[in-house]
Amino acid sequence: MKIGILGGGQLGRMLIQEALKYDDEWYTLDPQADAPCSAISNLTQGSFSDYQTVMDFGQGKDVVTIEIEHVNTDALADLQKKGVKVIPDPSIIRIIQQKILQKAFYLQHQIPSPDFQIIQNREEASFPLPFVQKLNTGGYDGKGVQVIRTQDDLKNLWDAPSVLEKLVDIDKELSVIVAVNEEGVSRTFPVTEMVADPKLNLLDFNICPAQISQEVQQQILEITKKFTAAAQSPGLFAIELFLDREGKVWVNETAPRLHNSGHQSQEGNANSQFEQFYRVITDLPLADTDAFGFSGMLNLVGADGFEGKARYEGLEEVLRLPKTYIHLYGKTQTKPGRKMGHINVLADSRDELMGKLILIKSLVQVKS
Ligand code: ADP
Repeated sequence: MKIGILGGGQLGRMLIQEALKYDDEWYTLDPQADAPCSAISNLTQGSFSDYQTVMDFGQGKDVVTIEIEHVNTDALADLQKKGVKVIPDPSIIRIIQQKILQKAFYLQHQIPSPDFQIIQNREEASFPLPFVQKLNTGGYDGKGVQVIRTQDDLKNLWDAPSVLEKLVDIDKELSVIVAVNEEGVSRTFPVTEMVADPKLNLLDFNICPAQISQEVQQQILEITKKFTAAAQSPGLFAIELFLDREGKVWVNETAPRLHNSGHQSQEGNANSQFEQFYRVITDLPLADTDAFGFSGMLNLVGADGFEGKARYEGLEEVLRLPKTYIHLYGKTQTKPGRKMGHINVLADSRDELMGKLILIKSLVQVKS
């Protein structure tokens, strides 16, 4: 098949890497000629947010998909009308692209998500303190999100269309990845716990399976069912969740694509999120997702104070550890906070897993 991906980053790269064992032609569209997918696909340099560029790229492909959500959905909808298969459906990408539409979608479909107010400008803000302001568009990796705690903080409100959301008293941040095929059959991966780095606001560790009660599992199952029923689209979705201190689960946001919270599935599960997503876009039987014991992932991000050609310190020591797997994304240039790769580990217990992740974190650094 001729498969086109909007975006040429690491998610696309790991998808293609997994799927090269099947026989397909891979095409990617990215503004950067040396994007992570460039070495393993036919990369077209161009903007995935430009209508004509996406139309030209999509023509003649059997299927077009995404590895980033900030794409031109009008073009995707028109490609669909011309008979190109587009996964996920452009309508769900459009909803997810805008925080305001996304929150309205959860409300409409009775998917539990923290209470909120929609504002077009700062003058409209009347939501009780404390709350989280989330810009309608343009936010990612913690940018475009700020906590407003006090009366005094109100002066920092961004003057732009946003969602003001109740500040949740978070016990754990969780994620569930669900794949849905064209017949509407779905399969989930075990729930993952995400441990964030408070400074960078970038995901730091994933731990799978999450340590949660049966009751919490059940809430997540219900949410997943409601989401897939409402989205009405094939694809692979990562639903990011908050478990609050009272044991209630809330949806934070959903990504309509492969996700950082599923990277440990590369070695931690019978099949990875990449294999599963490949099967969705090519309409093959969905894969089993059983976990091999405990698995975890550590993001390798550019260290503070280093910018330029990337140099990885400590990788050899990491490679000496058992059941430890390095994945680099083929980015030559590092800068503070840039996601450069990740390391997956397997373990027989949660304690062993945490110990290994903490040890590895102390061993590796991405410098220049
Ligand atoms: P992004 O799209 O940039 O990842 P998120 O909406 O996921 O932004 O927010 C980033 C982080 O901010 C979350 O992982 C969580 O730690 C915190 N956060 C977001 N919304 C809330 C909320 N309603 N209550 C408490 N913390 C929140």
